[in-house]
Amino acid sequence: MRIQQPQDNYDLVVVGGGMVGASFACAIDHAIDKENFSILVVEAIAASSSISEQLSFDARSTALSFGSSRIFDNMGLWEQLADVVTAIKEIHVSDRGRLGSSHLHHAEHGVDALGYVIENKALGVVLNSAMESSHSIQLLCPASILTIKPDAAGMALQIESGSESYSVNASLVVLADGGKSPICSQLGIDRTVEQYSQHALIANIAFEKPHNNIAFERFTDTGPLAVLPLESIDQCNRGSLVWTLTTEQSAEFAAMSEDELLPRLQQRFGNRLGRLQQLGERFIYPLSLSVAKEQIRPGLVLLGNVAHTLHPVAGQGLNLALRDTQVLVSVLQKAFSQARSLGEMSVLQEYLEQQEMDQAQTINFTHYITQLFSSNSTAKTWLRKFGLLSIDLIPSIRKSFAERAMGLFSK
Ligand SMILES: Cc1cc2nc3c(=O)[nH]c(=O)nc-3n(C[C@H](O)[C@H](O)[C@H](O)COP(=O)(O)OP(=O)(O)OC[C@H]3O[C@@H](n4cnc5c(N)ncnc54)[C@H](O)[C@@H]3O)c2cc1C
Repeated sequence: MRIQQPQDNYDLVVVGGGMVGASFACAIDHAIDKENFSILVVEAIAASSSISEQLSFDARSTALSFGSSRIFDNMGLWEQLADVVTAIKEIHVSDRGRLGSSHLHHAEHGVDALGYVIENKALGVVLNSAMESSHSIQLLCPASILTIKPDAAGMALQIESGSESYSVNASLVVLADGGKSPICSQLGIDRTVEQYSQHALIANIAFEKPHNNIAFERFTDTGPLAVLPLESIDQCNRGSLVWTLTTEQSAEFAAMSEDELLPRLQQRFGNRLGRLQQLGERFIYPLSLSVAKEQIRPGLVLLGNVAHTLHPVAGQGLNLALRDTQVLVSVLQKAFSQARSLGEMSVLQEYLEQQEMDQAQTINFTHYITQLFSSNSTAKTWLRKFGLLSIDLIPSIRKSFAERAMGLFSK
């Protein structure tokens, strides 16, 4: 439910109601279905009325893995999401100007879809309405957390909402305020940052031929380029473009007219979807790998981009955060049933121990793919060719690549 003024004490405070904070709040609410369990979500940017302004719920689309669809199903939200997603039945990976390419097909892996594409705004609408209709979740928005300090019972927070300021205590704070978190700096939590000197150009794109539910990932001289399938509107075939560019090109391409830019895109993407006809509004995102050096402290856990911000090349950022969410929720549910404090370090350690291998592997996989597919060195070109061929020809490599794409992490 939406509130105007917070209580003094909560079991849980979630800082940031973006894709990750909102998903976590809905997941824990669904798992701990108790009247006296209280969750406060504080989001800086006004939701539902102007969802497009909220950072998390902008014009982008997100590829949800098959595993993420199961996580939303466990939260009781898949039924609503299923109406607004586009299934990915096939993934086609290729290297521009070279022969190597690889196909993954849903039937081969015994699933209806390898994953799903959802427009971020649509995910925002479902998550926000779930938070608003919950009795345990109190949503304070727009409001900002100014400070967080440890105290005897967990964490003490200072919240600003309009012209008012409130003090709130919580057993556990879930920090999901994104990759630029000033709170993290305030708490003295350092980050390891690697700049890729690349930017992503994002836009919706219209094209001549139907996409047949195929997601295209193409590696080009500037970096990877992906076109994800979206539902047609008024018989217009649509997709979501994620185009990795060098810093200089991103500035140049963002300023170009559509007539100038479309032929360049066509040249890099090829003719798989026929003539590329139209580009929607363009957005540019700088890309880096940024990982927090600490994810847990007594009474505090970092989730989503504030814990790890990844290159979007392999579409793993939100999917990893959802797997983190799933494990964190199950550990907290157990602690709650044992009447232990949710912010106890041993509880949070149990979460991190269960997730650290998945996090490390996903971060390394994404980083490796980014490096491999953003270089034209002869060695890396051969490695790419070999990699794409082996995905097609070697069953064990094919299986493990497909499992990662589908978000089915096995330890
Ligand atoms: C181009 C691109 C494409 C991507 N594609 C995919 C994909 O296909 N698949 C995938 O899995 N991932 C993808 N990702 C990654 C995914 O978008 C991120 O993992 C996800 O957005 C992280 O969400 P978040 O909630 O952690 O952070 P954010 O989206 O940054 O949200 C943080 C929220 O916290 C709020 N906030 C900040 N400070 C405060 C404060 N002090 N008080 C209160 N609220 C505050 C903000 O208003 C915001 O709403 C992509 C990323 C990019 C850049």
